[in-house]
Amino acid sequence: MAQLTDDCFAFSGDLLPVDEALSLLTKRLTAVVGTETVSLSQARQRVLAVDVIARRNVPPYDNSAVDGYAVYHADLNADAETVLPVRGRVAAGHPLNGPAGHGEAIRIFTGAPMPDGPDGGPDTVMMQEDCREEDGKVTLLPGIKSGSNRRKAGEDVGEGDLILKAGTRLEPQHIAMAASQGLADLEVYRPLRVAVLSTGDEVFEPGCDLPAGAIYDANRHMIAAMLENMGCSVQDKGILPDDEDSIARALAEAADENDLIVTSGGMSVGEEDHICNVIRQSGELNFWRLAIKPGRPVGMGQVKAGDGRVVPVFGLPGNPVAAFTTFTLIGYPMVQVMAGQENCPPRRYAVVLDADYKKKKGRREFVRARLTGRDESGLPKAVKHGASGAAIISSLVGADGFIDLGEDTTQITAGTVVDFLPFSEVLR
Ligand code: AMP
Ligand code: MG
Repeated sequence: MAQLTDDCFAFSGDLLPVDEALSLLTKRLTAVVGTETVSLSQARQRVLAVDVIARRNVPPYDNSAVDGYAVYHADLNADAETVLPVRGRVAAGHPLNGPAGHGEAIRIFTGAPMPDGPDGGPDTVMMQEDCREEDGKVTLLPGIKSGSNRRKAGEDVGEGDLILKAGTRLEPQHIAMAASQGLADLEVYRPLRVAVLSTGDEVFEPGCDLPAGAIYDANRHMIAAMLENMGCSVQDKGILPDDEDSIARALAEAADENDLIVTSGGMSVGEEDHICNVIRQSGELNFWRLAIKPGRPVGMGQVKAGDGRVVPVFGLPGNPVAAFTTFTLIGYPMVQVMAGQENCPPRRYAVVLDADYKKKKGRREFVRARLTGRDESGLPKAVKHGASGAAIISSLVGADGFIDLGEDTTQITAGTVVDFLPFSEVLR
């Protein structure tokens, strides 16, 4: 398990482009979680901690891919039907007792081991649809290629192959691979422990009555859900008032019990933004002015836990859409690296913008959009959500993802092909 350094977020520039922020994070952060062994039934969505090398061939033996008759190809007539006596029966789980000879056919079923015999045994399986069995004899159609319908030992995986890489988030297909090797359990990283808290005297918990001038806390629940989707173990530290003592106490407690702290609100440099002062007093704070819209400075802080660990504090902007966007772009890869997951950037897809769009040069813009239908060339069409402010949660609900417009872009005309980042790429 690695330790983070005190200056892992140091950055001296002015506006920080998203790609630079990402490469900075992936270079300076590292997996901070230990490992544990879990059974296959507990392994889904966990992050594999070690490479897995195949201990055996899969399939372990040559077997039939169909129901039919196993024969020596050399026994078949090239241009005419062949009639052979049926001399045995082999089903999955029930290998043939003894060898199969030249000049005979063996009834065989899918998954059954190919029979042994002289010259390596029968080499070909004729599908039952191409055969007629009568009175202990089978008539086979001509034209089959040697080796047809025979699955070779090791054709899927060979002993010694690297089958699963450390850092892989385990999906059902990876679990199938491990199971096919006979592995009953896997070494995985422990879930990253993340504390989530909101700040703001105006922020109240859903479920309570809302006083005048107050709003419900959307961010904390949104961020917790995103982290849980990513397999983190989330500790809810609630809503903190704009008061330095309470924030200091909460951060210290959170650091002792977690690997990362995610906060929202209070990250501007206004006089009510107390969380900045607290982080500065108890550790380090670097403001990153990300060159993005929506988004504002995000706070990349570090506080020390009682045991000496450096615990990053990721301070998100208070506006929910800005929080969502910065968490999606920066928080998601950050969590991946710290949780040991191989950093796999979310995939972007080509879509066609349905209307003209103007933007400012110098910052990357993430426009919430819905996909509807396809254009003449077959590409999905992206329709921008009507309202687009950083506080408009309905722009997230009404969208399938972000249109990702580069720093240098200023004007796009309808019909232009643009990059689209689906929410499904980052919210799983
Ligand atoms: P701040 O970053 O604290 O200046 O907040 C910026 C805006 O986001 C203000 O309008 C806040 O009321 C709002 N805001 C802050 N925290 C939350 C939250 N947890 N949920 C919803 N809105 C919030
Ligand atoms: Mg605030």
